[in-house]
Amino acid sequence: MITQIIDKKSLARATELINKANRIVTICHTGPDGDAIGSSLATVHVLSDIGKDIKAIIPDKALDNLRSLPGAKDIVNAADHPEFAAKLINEADLIICLDFNTIDRAGRLTEVLQEAKAPKILIDHHLGVTIDATLIISHPEMCATCCLLFYFICGIGLFNAIDRNAAECMLAGIMTDTGNFSYNCDDPELYIITAELVRKGADKEKLYNRLFNTFSANCLRLNSYAILKKMEVFHEGHAALITLTRDELNRFKYVKGDTEGLVNRPLAIPGIIYSCFMRQETDCIRVSMRSRGSFPVNELCAEHYGGGGHLNAAGGEFYGSLEDAAALFRSLIKENNKKYIENSKFKNENI
Ligand code: MN
Repeated sequence: MITQIIDKKSLARATELINKANRIVTICHTGPDGDAIGSSLATVHVLSDIGKDIKAIIPDKALDNLRSLPGAKDIVNAADHPEFAAKLINEADLIICLDFNTIDRAGRLTEVLQEAKAPKILIDHHLGVTIDATLIISHPEMCATCCLLFYFICGIGLFNAIDRNAAECMLAGIMTDTGNFSYNCDDPELYIITAELVRKGADKEKLYNRLFNTFSANCLRLNSYAILKKMEVFHEGHAALITLTRDELNRFKYVKGDTEGLVNRPLAIPGIIYSCFMRQETDCIRVSMRSRGSFPVNELCAEHYGGGGHLNAAGGEFYGSLEDAAALFRSLIKENNKKYIENSKFKNENI
């Protein structure tokens, strides 16, 4: 059905580790997104189907729109129940780490995880794994951990244990990490996997509405305000900037997640190659950038905003006023043009 990308040795070792274990926990990264929650819950559904006592633990709260995923009610949030979470991890005889590559990404669970005696299986799609695990299944070419998990589950012979709930959770992760099949989705096999998940009963339309098209009135107003009143477009510099002060956020009763995706919006304007969004937090200015083609926003964020990330999606922080953070961005536009856009490499790109 699909080409197995995970090597046989790893799959055999995973089978052995899972067979030996009775009590299993899954752990994902801090600020869990649809791929982290989706892969955790799908693992729980599949392994409980074969009789394992398994619980999903998250370091802190996930966004509200993930709460409707099947099984989400039974997730243990370590921010609310730190002792219970630590007890589960310490008593587990297998720990499955999902969707993160460095131990500190486990947030408040980092220390417990580091000291836990149980063997660990890591299943992840981020570049540069540094976690010390018994078995590492790392495939950065995968669009989502949920996609890799599908190969994994098939590889250990548990395709039949994928029920409707597991399928829905895996599709949620794939849709999250590809922006509902907008990017990182050129692999034809992704659509074979998606077809299998839909065949198993995953409701893509429902997932789309819950994950991508559910906003509070305040959130819609905040985003519209940001674009109408706060978006600066630098056509000659191929750049755009949106800033939001604390007062503005408060005016629209901002809650975490409300400005998710806002930074991408200016990239819809023809000619705009990179976009920056700055949000005033209580202690710093949170900076996020997105770009097209070879324009490296990770370099900009690393050089000027103490951060980093991927070529086309990066972030950082600025300690100072929002005006200064914005002025710095504006002052770099000319130089960015010379350095990254006017070179022959970029000119040959079809964007
Ligand atoms: Mn992911």
